[in-house]
Amino acid sequence: MQRIYVLRIGHRPERDKRVSTHVALTARAFGACGIYFDVEDPKLFESIEDVCSRWGKNNGFCEFFVEKRSWKSLLRNFDGLKVHLTMYGKPLTEKLDVIRAAKKVLVVVGAEKVPAEVYELSDLNVAIGNQPHSEVAALAVFLDRILNVTFSLEFRDAKIRVKPSEKGKCVVKSSEENKKGEEKL
Ligand code: SAM
Repeated sequence: MQRIYVLRIGHRPERDKRVSTHVALTARAFGACGIYFDVEDPKLFESIEDVCSRWGKNNGFCEFFVEKRSWKSLLRNFDGLKVHLTMYGKPLTEKLDVIRAAKKVLVVVGAEKVPAEVYELSDLNVAIGNQPHSEVAALAVFLDRILNVTFSLEFRDAKIRVKPSEKGKCVVKSSEENKKGEEKL
């Protein structure tokens, strides 16, 4: 599986905590290896790490992380394909082959207007449709189309996991699952 990292630009701690948390959870749940923010926000990082500690971060391929990095230096130095998601870009459907062929991808999403340099430093400016919507929606569609692991991803170190059911909510602790597994044997 190729490695995809997310760069979230322009997070404003006082305004964007909820959306930025959703960007990070989407990155994790749809198969990205980690997320970079260009702003330090300890509360945001803690809430993402809290989800990772309960629901897991090791998907058998990589261990999901959250880290602070300067966007400019990351975009300048990243040793893979840099894809900026923007409604002004070329349709993702036209770029699927080149993106899928890359071993490492950095996918960039903004909060408000991103600096013009982001368009220049990125290898591709890609649109998920040319209408304005949301960084969460854009990232979800991008990861699902590229990695296609949304329905198969499992976190090996999860303490709790969902047991899919027709009605109601069923969450099991990993130790209970193990016990049931042993009983079956
Ligand atoms: N007005 C901002 C601009 O001109 O860039 C858009 C901000 S939008 C709320 C936040 C982020 O969502 C954007 O930076 C982009 O990464 C993503 N986004 C929104 N619509 C998109 C689309 N149609 N295709 C790809 N990404 C999109």
